Amino acid sequence: MAVIGFDTTVFPRLDYKDPKGFWRQIDELVEFFSSNSQELSMVKSSVPALVAAFDKLDPLIQSYTAKVCPYCGTVCCANKFGFPEFADVVVFLSLGLDIPDYNLDVDEEAICQFIGEKGCVLPRIQRPYRCTWYFCDPLLVQLEIGPAKDYRSFISDLQELSRARGELLRYFYEVWQEKGTSVR
Ligand code: SF4
Ligand code: SF4
Repeated sequence: MAVIGFDTTVFPRLDYKDPKGFWRQIDELVEFFSSNSQELSMVKSSVPALVAAFDKLDPLIQSYTAKVCPYCGTVCCANKFGFPEFADVVVFLSLGLDIPDYNLDVDEEAICQFIGEKGCVLPRIQRPYRCTWYFCDPLLVQLEIGPAKDYRSFISDLQELSRARGELLRYFYEVWQEKGTSVR
């Protein structure tokens, strides 16, 4: 199965080092969603598939991170990875999720503000996408030495997630390109 994702570099950069600009872009996106709800109906139509893909993938990823992460000496969750990209915010708003209350006044290299006692406190769907697709070597090894059936279904679930997210973003981009040139 081919992976049909979406090239998110077409979107502007959401820069957490520029708090004013960061929140301004988010506010403009919120406004864009509320004033173009009809035009964004195709975006809404792709939400169920994306939610289903996240729901399917999450338990398997959880089961592997629960095995590996507690023993990790180089925890990958730093603040800079917990901040969203423009496309992440588009996805959150499409899903009707609240935008997490990011504290931008933190050391970007320090442990992510969303780490709790049992790992990330945000539901997977409300994390930056990179938090789902990043697999460190120890995690990959665990996946590879696990049951082949799990591995195959993991790959196919990951492809479906990429497809569903890509479709949503493509629909959004069509409307945004036509109307949203002020959101930069
Ligand atoms: S995903 Fe990998 S690098 Fe990140 S905390 Fe878990 S084991 Fe460590
Ligand atoms: S998974 Fe959660 S804690 Fe880790 S970087 Fe992403 S948002 Fe932060």
